[in-house]
Amino acid sequence: MLSSNFGQLEAEVKMVNKSVADWFHLDIMDGIFVPNISYGFPVIRAIAKEAEKPLDVHLMIHDPDRYLGVFKETGAAWLTVHYEACTHLHRTLREIHNLGMKAGVALNPHTPVALLSDILQETDLVLIMSVNPGFGGQTFITHTYRKIAEMKELILRENATALLEVDGGVGAQNAEALYAAGADVLVAGHAVFGAADPVQAMCRIKAE
Ligand code: ZN
Repeated sequence: MLSSNFGQLEAEVKMVNKSVADWFHLDIMDGIFVPNISYGFPVIRAIAKEAEKPLDVHLMIHDPDRYLGVFKETGAAWLTVHYEACTHLHRTLREIHNLGMKAGVALNPHTPVALLSDILQETDLVLIMSVNPGFGGQTFITHTYRKIAEMKELILRENATALLEVDGGVGAQNAEALYAAGADVLVAGHAVFGAADPVQAMCRIKAE
């Protein structure tokens, strides 16, 4: 939703409701963990009010433990924190589960997938950043393909059930290759909201 037109947010949410998209992906930035600030709780509540699909909330914020309960209240179904932002990741994921949400862990481009081997059983979703987090509309980092394959191998080896999500620079041009590499969930922002026909753009990405 970061790439949507906030001046007509209700219409954008209704458009996604009617599209082939499965979830709403919300990027929350705090200006500390990433060099940008996106939007906060009033906007999330406005999206949640109209959304007819699960909210997949991606926290690019330092020390997310402070706000887990508030994100639950605002309607998050999936809550993803960054590996790099949590000192006690195991405790954080437990708390997300206790609050009744699915728990995800995101990795920045420089963070090796092997670091998740001891936490995978507590994780419902692994988010691989395919750009440096902070801004929408960036160029896809091609090394991501290798990371997806390695992560998928680790998930299978650990007999884990975590979904594998890819976020950043995703569009119809790389959707098929990402799926082939092992991705289960693709996050498309600019490729959808920057298109002349967003509904059609989502159909194309899914068809790939
Ligand atoms: Zn995201």
